[in-house]
Amino acid sequence: MRLDDYKLFTIGPTQMYRHTLDVRSKVVPYFRTPEFSELMLDNERLIKKLQFASEDSKAVFLTASGSGAMEATVINCFDQNDKLLIICGGTFGERFVNICNIHHIPCEVLRLGPDETLTADHFSQFDGKPFTGLLVNIDETYTGQLYDINIIRDFCDRNNLLLVVDAISSFLADPYKMEENHIDATIVSSQKGLCLAPGLSIVTLSPRMVNKVENTSVQSLYFEFKDYLINMKRGQTPFTPAVGVCFELNDMLHRIDEAGVETRLKEVKDRCEYFRSSIKGLPIYLPDYPLSNAISPIRFEKSIAMEFFAFLKDERHIMVNPVGGELGKRSIRVAHVGDLSFADYDNLIAEIKSYFGM
Ligand SMILES: *Cc1c(COP(=O)(O)O)cnc(C)c1O
Repeated sequence: MRLDDYKLFTIGPTQMYRHTLDVRSKVVPYFRTPEFSELMLDNERLIKKLQFASEDSKAVFLTASGSGAMEATVINCFDQNDKLLIICGGTFGERFVNICNIHHIPCEVLRLGPDETLTADHFSQFDGKPFTGLLVNIDETYTGQLYDINIIRDFCDRNNLLLVVDAISSFLADPYKMEENHIDATIVSSQKGLCLAPGLSIVTLSPRMVNKVENTSVQSLYFEFKDYLINMKRGQTPFTPAVGVCFELNDMLHRIDEAGVETRLKEVKDRCEYFRSSIKGLPIYLPDYPLSNAISPIRFEKSIAMEFFAFLKDERHIMVNPVGGELGKRSIRVAHVGDLSFADYDNLIAEIKSYFGM
């Protein structure tokens, strides 16, 4: 497998930007230095700014994939005395359920059927019950459904719940306002909307979640947030971080901040709308529920998704996201984050047409 041969329409790793590849090509420096501390404090300031988090929120930099950060967040923020509501509309929601079961954290599941849209009505049966927190993957990447944060925020406000949002695929693809939506923990990862190499995840905590973390005991050495919070006061992490990715992150955050986060969101949205309008008239369709701009979960009439995925990969060196499970026979996903142009989408559309003999 030659690395340069593929065009990636995948949600992560994404088609990385040239400027990130330039940062990646440098020597990875030693990190217990005031200079690296300054870079990390700058990363914390910028990530909070781009997530519209409150001034006094805190960021935890974990060297782990997104699932590691999901697990770490759950075990640091909650314990056996909590009771969580989990919105589960696909494999990523299921992951939160598994994490709670493994760690014996009581939970109930709001489970959505195939192609079912999350609405305010779903929450009425859970009102007034003794929940302490809610977990949601705001873009359930398995289906591409973007849940309505207003409905979720209102439910959490009414019932005084701590709100944990896995925004791993949604951040920098859809608008994200942490403080305005009363979000207490936000989880993101380097390889998705940030378009960096995998390896780094960031959990941003609201002041009331910092307080909860400080009063929750954790059975873990590597994932103990209290240690990260103390170290981060001086811009350090307890263990060796993915140092190179921290440099890629700083470069990316500065570029996004300088252009304005709305500019980045518009670029992704424009690519998304361009693709979705270009597939009209092809023998593929999109589901009816609200979609994230991160990815288009296209569906085929027949069970040809695996074959089509292999055709693109092997014969055209184009990578899209396959879908696991039952849905995977009739669905693939096309990402809109990454260094992709309209011309790249034109090529992809042309390949879809040629595959269907159009
Ligand atoms: C990608 C993703 C994750 C994390 O997956 P990893 O493979 O562990 O990085 C978690 N949640 C969502 C919604 C995702 O899209």
